[in-house]
Amino acid sequence: APTPLIAGNWKMNGDSASLGEALATAAGLGSTKARVAICPSATLVSRMSDALKATNVQVGGQDCRAELSGAYTGDVAAEQLADAGAELVILGHSERRAGYGETNALVAAKTQAALRAGLEPIVCVGETLDERKAGKALEIVTGQVRGSLPAELAGQAFSVAYEPVWAIGTGLTPSTEEIVEVHRAIRATLNEIFGAHGATVAILYGGSVKPANAAEILHADEVGGALVGGASLKAADFLGIIAAV
Ligand code: 13P
Repeated sequence: APTPLIAGNWKMNGDSASLGEALATAAGLGSTKARVAICPSATLVSRMSDALKATNVQVGGQDCRAELSGAYTGDVAAEQLADAGAELVILGHSERRAGYGETNALVAAKTQAALRAGLEPIVCVGETLDERKAGKALEIVTGQVRGSLPAELAGQAFSVAYEPVWAIGTGLTPSTEEIVEVHRAIRATLNEIFGAHGATVAILYGGSVKPANAAEILHADEVGGALVGGASLKAADFLGIIAAV
């Protein structure tokens, strides 16, 4: 089974004063068997990478542009994230799919850019509440997996994060059975696309993960880690989740 990955997505939170939480997370890891990463805003990637250099916590970006460079005001290239010290990047988060119209094809292009820059992609998928209610969760999620993962990922290190849109920041989570059903469908799709390599890909769960529910979620079949939003901002909470691996 893949090494479990616990990644914190700080979203648009945090500034230089928050680096202490990242350092406290690193200091509290103990002998965890999980790989741990924090993905702060682009403004913090460089300083956080420097601060965490001698630790076991990796740093990631939250998005990148697909192009190498150019006239794209406000955007950040995968190469720039790597240059700033990032080792991973979250791509296709639902907040970007919904807020910026990111399609599966664009997420796939960004994923290729991440590989080009030597970044490990965390590709996000997940259904809305309406899609779940319509019985379409598996169809939507496996379609996103097929559309968002470029063939170039074959043989490369990457993970997929299943984040039901309705579970993000709401305190709601699917039942463990529902999580396992979706993760098994994602695994089957990965096996179809990538053959034996598909079995080595960690499938993370994201959406209202907190210390109190982490053990049950993380020990469920085919759950290979977590993508954590709100509960990754404070080291005490994040460490509580990491300890549940
Ligand atoms: P919350 O953990 O705050 O629900 O956010 C999940 C998420 O979107 C992580 O990418």
